[in-house]
Amino acid sequence: MSQIDIYKIRRHCSNCDAQEEIEVTEREAAFDLVDINQRLGSNCKKCSSISFFISRPLPIPNFELLKEWAFNEDLYFSSQDEDLLLADGEALDAILEILDMLQLPDYKTGILMSALCVIVYNNTLGDDPQFAELRVRVIEELNKRLDKLLIADAFIMDYIKAIVYPQLTESN
Ligand SMILES: [Zn+2]
Repeated sequence: MSQIDIYKIRRHCSNCDAQEEIEVTEREAAFDLVDINQRLGSNCKKCSSISFFISRPLPIPNFELLKEWAFNEDLYFSSQDEDLLLADGEALDAILEILDMLQLPDYKTGILMSALCVIVYNNTLGDDPQFAELRVRVIEELNKRLDKLLIADAFIMDYIKAIVYPQLTESN
């Protein structure tokens, strides 16, 4: 096993600027399992304010995190728009591995396939050749998994489909 990575959650008092932080594991950071205000108390230690700006690290989902997430309905990568969060090019290999190796619940398949579509969407506009390379690769991967895309269809936003689906048919 690789070493355990430590992630820091910080809170910044919006009244006096005091900063406090706690350390959490990758898993706790990824699924937002620790409430910093619960751990440190709800009041700022300097001025007793209860108003904070909180910053959380977002680990890039890897195979182990995705595997746990896939079979646990209570785990979320963020409170909303999981597919947007997962749509990081760096998570691509882990997402493909999970899709191909495990029999996932349909809605989890939906979120992951939707994330792939978001990667294509995000990399369709713009001239950077690096973007084009990622886009072409993900289109290829989507075309290999059209059965899963069918399952995912209901999970994918219309504005994403409008940009991504025509590119799939073009390369077929
Ligand atoms: Zn304060």
